[in-house]
Amino acid sequence: MKYLLLIPDGMADREIDLLGKRTPLEVADTPNMDFLAREGSTGITKTVPEGYEPGSDIANLTILGIDVRKFYSGRGPLEALARGIRGEQVFRCNLVYVKDGIMADYSGRRVSDSEAREIIRQLNKEKEFDFIKFYPGRSYRNLLIINKRFEDNAITTPPHDIQGKPIENYLPKGGELAKLLRSLITWSEGILKELKAKPNLIWPWGGGRMPSFPSFRELYGVRASMISEVDLLQGIGKGLKMDVVEVEGMTGYIDTNYKGLAKATLRSLKKSDFVLLHTEGIDEVSHEGDAEKKVEAINLYDEKIVGYLLDRLDLDDTRIMLLPDHPTPIELRTHSSEEVPFLLYGGKRDDVREFSEKSCRKGIFGKVDGLRLMNILLYYQGLG
Ligand SMILES: [Zn+2]
Repeated sequence: MKYLLLIPDGMADREIDLLGKRTPLEVADTPNMDFLAREGSTGITKTVPEGYEPGSDIANLTILGIDVRKFYSGRGPLEALARGIRGEQVFRCNLVYVKDGIMADYSGRRVSDSEAREIIRQLNKEKEFDFIKFYPGRSYRNLLIINKRFEDNAITTPPHDIQGKPIENYLPKGGELAKLLRSLITWSEGILKELKAKPNLIWPWGGGRMPSFPSFRELYGVRASMISEVDLLQGIGKGLKMDVVEVEGMTGYIDTNYKGLAKATLRSLKKSDFVLLHTEGIDEVSHEGDAEKKVEAINLYDEKIVGYLLDRLDLDDTRIMLLPDHPTPIELRTHSSEEVPFLLYGGKRDDVREFSEKSCRKGIFGKVDGLRLMNILLYYQGLG
């Protein structure tokens, strides 16, 4: 038996007036996900433990059965793990665009990889302290390493949570480390201005020390692969000692190389017992706050990922679980922590006919703790 876990990041949403009080998933044309829901069984699940921010890191770790209360140290360290970078303290370092003191764009007006690399190069050249180093990632997603021990951690805010808000209230808070971060933010303004860059500030957040995870194979006894478009998930994959597969032309947006991602999934299923395919585009358009575009992104996902796979998989020998890691409601333009719908294909059937936030509430699994999902996918035997 093969096990496939499909995670369309941020797909779940709330009712939207513009869509006739329906969710983008309800409005979208999703024959393939509906097929899986109809032929399988469904439920809803809480992927963000009480007291935690609904970040993709928290949600995806929970889905993979890793209790973040024991293992989580921040987003920066996970991304560093993905890239084989080590350091004392690791922060995610966004390149952002701030206008009149307001966080106008957490993605730095979609700065390109090459421009971002040039910015990071310049920051490293101009920096004042040897214990600081910037690492380029993809587009606005870069890293800041601080190789110095500080007594206290800094309280930081993800920039995608404060779109449209004054940054003044959300600058790093705490002791000496926070003070250093604030000074770096201010310092970066001059350098980015000099470069006439699309982003005009750095924004460090999600910092912490490097975590140590159990291996996925030890936990579940299966050989596992991961395909993801973002460093964050790759970091989780590497931390869990999964095979992390790179795909040419993946962009993390709705213009991604769908076929490449789907083909890599099929290839990985030949080598591994378990494959996770995580795609980012739907979450990105949710952050943009465009309901119609989100519907379109879901249509594309259903056709070009789920449909493509269903046409080529041996469905008698594959169990499939599909769920968004968390909702990214259009009305919020950021993540939220309410339950998400999930489906399991390859077990019992229930009466749910389509895959949506509401329909899955009536599913056979009811409401499930996110930490139980891997057990359901790998071991659930309630076969009818
Ligand atoms: Zn996410």
